[in-house]
Amino acid sequence: MNDLQALSYITTVAGGLLLWLLEGVIPFFSGRAARGKHATKNLSIAGINLLILLPAGPIMAMVLEKSKAVWPGVGLLKLPFILETILIILLVDLWMYVWHRLNHEVDFLWRFHSIHHSDPSMDVTTAWRFHYVEIALSELLRLPVFVLIGAGIEDLLLYSMLMTPVIAFHHSNVSIPSSADRSLRTIIPSPLMHRIHHSVIRAEHDSNYGSMLSFWDRLFGSFKLKEGIRDMELGLQNESSPEKQRVGALLTRPFHN
Ligand SMILES: [Zn+2]
Ligand SMILES: [Zn+2]
Repeated sequence: MNDLQALSYITTVAGGLLLWLLEGVIPFFSGRAARGKHATKNLSIAGINLLILLPAGPIMAMVLEKSKAVWPGVGLLKLPFILETILIILLVDLWMYVWHRLNHEVDFLWRFHSIHHSDPSMDVTTAWRFHYVEIALSELLRLPVFVLIGAGIEDLLLYSMLMTPVIAFHHSNVSIPSSADRSLRTIIPSPLMHRIHHSVIRAEHDSNYGSMLSFWDRLFGSFKLKEGIRDMELGLQNESSPEKQRVGALLTRPFHN
C-alpha cells in the first residue's frame, strides 16, 4: 500500500465517522432508531467487498502500468500534466455516471444495485452498502475503460480521494441549509439530489446518477429536483421489512426472482 492509498483509507474512515456522529446531532430525517445496528449491517455488507477490492487494486495497478506503455490513451494529446490529469478525472467520473445509469436501466444489473437502494434508512453507511456482485462487475468492467482512457493508478487514487467524501456526504443524513445544498449542487450531487435518487418512487430514483459531479445529470437530462422531501419515503417498495433487511436476506435477494 503506498502513502496515497493509506491516506485515502484514513480520510475515508475519519470522514465517515464524523458524518455518522453529525447525523446523530443534526439529522435531516429525524426519529432514526437503532443507528448502531443499522451501521453494523451496512458495514458488514461493505466488509465482504473488501475481499474483492483489496486484491483488485494491485491487479489494476499492474495492468494499467503495462497497458499505458502500449496504449497511452489521452496521453496521445500531449497535454500538460495537470490538464491530462483533469481530463482523466472527468472521463473516469463520466464512466461512473454511465455505469450507475446502466445499473438502473439493465434489469440484470438492477438486481444487484437494488440492494444499495433498498435501505429504508439511508445514511452515510449506505454509501458503502453494495452487493458483492455489483462490486465485482464494476471492477471488471472499469478496467478496459481505464485502459482505453490511459489512466494510471495514481489518477484513480486521486479520483477516489476526491469522490469518496462526496459520496459519503450525499448519502449522509446530515441536515444542511437549503441555500448550502443549492450552492453545492452546482458542482457536486448534493444530499437533496441523492435523497431523491433513493426515493421509493421509481420515476424519482431513476435520476441524479452522478458520483462526483452533478454536471453529467444536467448534460444527459437525468437531473431531478423536488423540494419539501422531509416526509419522503426512502428505499424500495415491499423491501423494507426487518426480515428483508437482514444481511443474509440482502445478500441472497438478487438470486431470487
Ligand atoms: Zn442508484
Ligand atoms: Zn446511493
